[in-house]
This record gives sequence, C-alpha cells and structure tokens, in this order.
Amino acid sequence: MAHAVKELYPDIKLAIGPATSEGFYYDFDSEHTFSEDDLPKIEEKMREIIKRDSPFVRREMPREEAIRLFERLGEPYKVELLKEMEDEYVTVYEEDNFIDLCKGPHLESTGKVKAFKLLSVAGAYWRGDERNKMLQRIYGVSFFTEEELNNHLRFLEEVKKRDHRRLGKELDLFSINEEIGPGLVLWHPRGATVRRVIEEFWLKEHIKANYHILYTPHIARLDLWRKTGHVDFYRENMYSPMEIEGLEYEIKPMNCPFHVSVYKSHLRSYRDLPLRYAELGTVYRYERSGVLHGLLRVRGFTQDDAHIFCTEEQIEDEVKAVLDFTIFILSSFGFKDYDIYLSTRPDEYVGTEAGWEKATNALRMALEDKGLNYSIDPGEGVFYGPKIDIKVKDCLGRAWQCSTIQVDFNIPERLDIKYRGPDSRDHRPVMIHRALMGSLERFMGILIEHYAGAFPVWLSPVQVSILTISERHVGYARDVLAHLINRGIRADIDEDNEKIGYKIRRATMLKTPYMCIIGEKEVTNRSVNVRMRDGRNLGEMGLEDFTGMIEEEIKGRR
Ligand code: ZN
Repeated sequence: MAHAVKELYPDIKLAIGPATSEGFYYDFDSEHTFSEDDLPKIEEKMREIIKRDSPFVRREMPREEAIRLFERLGEPYKVELLKEMEDEYVTVYEEDNFIDLCKGPHLESTGKVKAFKLLSVAGAYWRGDERNKMLQRIYGVSFFTEEELNNHLRFLEEVKKRDHRRLGKELDLFSINEEIGPGLVLWHPRGATVRRVIEEFWLKEHIKANYHILYTPHIARLDLWRKTGHVDFYRENMYSPMEIEGLEYEIKPMNCPFHVSVYKSHLRSYRDLPLRYAELGTVYRYERSGVLHGLLRVRGFTQDDAHIFCTEEQIEDEVKAVLDFTIFILSSFGFKDYDIYLSTRPDEYVGTEAGWEKATNALRMALEDKGLNYSIDPGEGVFYGPKIDIKVKDCLGRAWQCSTIQVDFNIPERLDIKYRGPDSRDHRPVMIHRALMGSLERFMGILIEHYAGAFPVWLSPVQVSILTISERHVGYARDVLAHLINRGIRADIDEDNEKIGYKIRRATMLKTPYMCIIGEKEVTNRSVNVRMRDGRNLGEMGLEDFTGMIEEEIKGRR
C-alpha cells in the first residue's frame, strides 16, 4: 500500500506502517488530503504492483548507512526513527523501486498477496502526540482468500450495525457532549432504567452473597493517596488536586482506601474474617481525549467494586466463591463464553516471594477446582499481587475484559491493617479486590453491542408498549396500562392519532419487546393482541395470561 501511495503521490513522506491485530495501516505526511474516495484508486495501483510480482529483498546495513540512505530518499520520519534506535545494524526491505525500513519478515514477492481491502482513512498525530504534526492514516486488511476477506467485511458491517454509540442515540439511552465534557456520561431515562435494573439485581445478589454494602465520598485528602502509593504510581491517571480550607483533596480514582478506612474503624478479630465490602463506587480517571470511546473508555465511571479482607488460608475459598458469583452474574446477562487468564508475579513486586507463591497457588487451585479453562499470563500480575481476569465473549466472538479478581499485598501493608488472631497477636489480613462487571458504563456498552440494542425483557427500558387503533379504544388501553404497571411491568402507551402501522414501526425502532394492540375486539373481550419486536404475532391473549407470561420471562431473566 505504501508503495502504491508513493507511486500515485510521489511527494508524500512515509511515517510508520505496522501490522496490527485488526489488519494494517500506514501513516503518511501528505499535501493531498486522503478521503475514502481515493481508496479504489490506491487499491487499483496495489493490484498492479502485485501483478508485477517483484521479490522482496532484505538488506542489513549499519544504522549510519541507513540514515544516509533515507536522507537521500527524502524521508525525514524514517531518519528520525533511525537516529533514536540503538541497534548497530538495521534492516531495510525493497521491492522494485520501493525501499522501507523494516524488521521483516516479508512474503517472497508482491505476487503472494492474495485478498485485501482498504477500509478507511483517519488523522493520526506523529507518534500519537498531539503536539506533533497530524498525519494521514490509511487502514486496510489482508487475507489468504477472498472468502476470508468477505467474511471479515461482513463481520465489520455487523460491528458497525451494533455500535453502541449509534444505538445509544437511536434508542435514547445516553449521551456524551462537549458542554459537559468528553468522557462524561449522561444517562437518559431509558438508559438509566436499564442501569437501575442492573444495579438492583447487583444489590440483591450481593446481599444474598453476604457482602456489606458501602457508600463512600468522591473526594479525599491527598495525603490518603500518598499513603496508598497512588500519588507515586498512579499520578498520570489522576486529576489535579483541589484545595479546601488550606488542605489538598483529590477526586478518587479508586474506592479501595475508603473500604480500608471502614475496616479500620474497629478492632478486627479473626472471627470477623472474611469481611466483604461492596460498593457501586464512582471513580474518575484521566484518559487522553484521543483514547475516549463512547461508554467503553470514559473519564468518570462506576465500578461494581468489592474488597474482601481475609486470611491467607481463606484466599482459595473466597476466590472460588467469587468465581461462582462472577459466572452467575455474567451468564444472567447472556454471556456464556469466557477467556480466563491467571497473571503471575512480575519482575517488580511488593510482598514476599512465598506470599506470592501461596496466593498464586490459591488462585490456580480455585480455577482448577471449578473446572474452568484458563491461560497463564506469566509476569503480567500487578506489582501488588497476582490476579485472575475474565473476558466475556459477545455474540460476534469479540472478547471484552470485565471481571477481575486481584490479591493485594501492598495496601494492607501501607495502610497498616490488622486483625487479632486466636493467638491474641496482630496479623496482616490479605485484601482481594474484585469487580464482576468492571464498570457499569463499559458493561452497558458491551451489552448494547451484544444485543444490538434489543435487550432481553428483564433489562428492556420499556417492556410493553400499548398501541391503540383508534381513539375509541383509549379508555380500555389505559386500564391495561394501569394493570401492567401495577404488576411491576414497565409499560407505556401510544395513543397518538396515527395509523397502527406507524405506531408498530415506532415501537419496533425502540426495540420494545412486546406490543399490545388494542382494537374493537380486544375492548369487547377485555384482551390484548400481542406482537413481538421481531415481527412475530402471538395473536389475541387474555390480559392475565399475557401478564403471567411476561412475569415468568422477567423472573427467569430469559
Ligand atoms: Zn480495590
């Protein structure tokens, strides 16, 4: 692609062009502003180069020589990269009259390239830094066969259709705007309803699982964050402190120290352990505006956070319970496929090697006891302890990081938390951080994409829409509405003076699972005529039968 662009626009400068997990791209510095209209022409040129079948030739040369080469070729970005490298020798690849700095490997020749497609163009700062020049990036994908390429293009189409940012607007669930600020979410009534249902479910299940529910403030003294080590290790994700009556305060990036503070409010005995504190805790973290993405990457979000204080011996049982809990919660939302990772001790860590060993073993034993398949991420644990990450697979097979279970040897030490053992002496408890959904914002984004906005009934913002055929039917329709609302079903009524076909389309667009159509016959029979959002017609049903059916569906979270 870079060769084709260079042939078509000889004045462009080459920046970088890596392969990624999603395909490939190349960044160009160009007078000509690329648009998607340019892509067919570039593809045509690429096909020409492929036809030439010129071999890729690898050359190794001293870095100094490469600098001179790219200076001669008028490629300042390559020269800049080379000057910063420390290698004595570098490699360049060339085919025909095109030369690029590259580690390789490459195909034997251009003719080996089979199926490809250029997808889009976008602006990108040189080295991702907004103080640098804005370059132009062209994205593409390549496959061994046309069939694989076409499958992938269909997948991308499906991804676009499910984009939660578009659906969030169409279904009136949430918005993010410049006036409030980037990365800060406004939940509209319909989205807030879904979130509230999730929160109520979360709360009920946590109480059943013997968690204590906490509420904690959004700001705390900066000194607290010094003690926890956040000021040293986490500063780049934190906002600037604010001053109140001469003292510095910081908006919270995490909930952990607050829960520790509650733990420390009493003398704790071994009989109190394990102690489980949970909170839907809203935190704020600094993210560059360039990486923000709808609900998936935001600046303010609510974690479904919990901290378990226990003894080392209790880790395994606690982790087993958390694993069961996680899988129950995730599967309740329709996620049945997971990728599980166990991350072990990194090079830099706190705590003792023996402690790490014990905790890592406890995590491993818990996974094995539950018969869960997992992979090991060697050295990928956080500096403070080993962890288990669970990624859910959505209906397109995409994996999303949601749940995490992390053992922490750091905070108990730094914040000096203790419990009185049976030996009447003080001991250090272990702290386990865990989140099942991760953050409500992100989880909601994933849910929207997984269901393409057509939530299961128990989560739907409106579960039943009552549609009247004419004004004569409004009286009875309102009785139906009152009956459903009285039974705890989220229902609304469309009594506008519109044709029934139009009302059906309107409710279908909002992906309301059930529509009750009320006409002459329904008024006479005190019944409802039921239609589903996928177009299926259940026909006339007694009002009580219909209500019972929906209640069952909500209860079963089907
Ligand atoms: Zn925590």
